[in-house]
Amino acid sequence: MHRVTFSCTCGSVAGQVRVASPAAGNHVVCHCPDCRTAELALGQPDPAPDGVAIWQTMPDCVQIEQGGDRLAILRLSPKGLYRWHASCCGAPMFNTLRHPRLAFAGISAARLSDTTPLGPVTCQAFMAKPGGGYRHTGFNRAGLRILRMMLRANLSGTWRATPFFDAQGQLRADIRVLSRAERTALRQP
Ligand SMILES: [Zn+2]
Ligand SMILES: [Zn+2]
Repeated sequence: MHRVTFSCTCGSVAGQVRVASPAAGNHVVCHCPDCRTAELALGQPDPAPDGVAIWQTMPDCVQIEQGGDRLAILRLSPKGLYRWHASCCGAPMFNTLRHPRLAFAGISAARLSDTTPLGPVTCQAFMAKPGGGYRHTGFNRAGLRILRMMLRANLSGTWRATPFFDAQGQLRADIRVLSRAERTALRQP
């Protein structure tokens, strides 16, 4: 069992994530246009041609110890993923879904003090194919693992132990949705 500390770039938002083993999540590198757009929207360096590294795990593994009130949520569209970031410095921190029962936390691996406990990257997602479309490696396996973990969290009730929602199921941060014009302006070729 490892406890890996994380923090935003300026250090105001910090905490730790419990990593039981590399099998307790997915070490993913996502190359999708949305992850890239989100980095740019938050004033971060362009990750391309590399993707964005994410540790996918359960919300009850995440402990926010300071600066929780500085977290804000960006959505790239009204249906988009909840992209939690530090409002102090723009650092992307977490991705979650819209409801606490959809127990999921993607943690930006760049925020972690040590990625060794995650093991090697097991999934490369949304790599652009020449001529259009995407290819992935380890995608189905990663999806299946996270679905199993979500199911277990629902059956055991550990979905309730989330730092992202309060006891009433309300998000603990404000949401901003990018307008279509903002999104288009940020899309890179
Ligand atoms: Zn910060
Ligand atoms: Zn992505």
